[in-house]
Amino acid sequence: MSASDDCLFCKIIAGQIPSGKVYEDETTYAFKDINPKAKVHVLIVPKKHYANVAELAAADPAELAHIVSVAQNIADESFHGAYRLVFNTGLDAGQTVFHVHAHVLTGEKLDE
Ligand code: IMP
Repeated sequence: MSASDDCLFCKIIAGQIPSGKVYEDETTYAFKDINPKAKVHVLIVPKKHYANVAELAAADPAELAHIVSVAQNIADESFHGAYRLVFNTGLDAGQTVFHVHAHVLTGEKLDE
């Protein structure tokens, strides 16, 4: 059994669990967070399973850069290019799903 067999976000990417898709290409998938913390709160994930952003950065830095450009495009469309990009990494930092995901928070002025 691979790490992705029991992964919620792998199932969302595969269409086995419904999601509010906002973007998809060959390598990357983006969908609305089910519990939004801003007017626009999107999760961007690589289709390949990596547990966290450090694993992704080591294995595929181009995909990490691509995720940043997808975040930029979402913010350009939602809130004149202003956004917060968060990768919770590790249980004690609040990571609850161990398939790397960028939280994009935008669509309104954010608290400092
Ligand atoms: P983490 O706490 O940084 O790992 O973020 C996980 C995020 O996934 C949280 O913000 C959750 O609200 C979100 N989430 C959990 N299940 C789903 C789902 O089924 N659809 C969309 N977002 C989800």
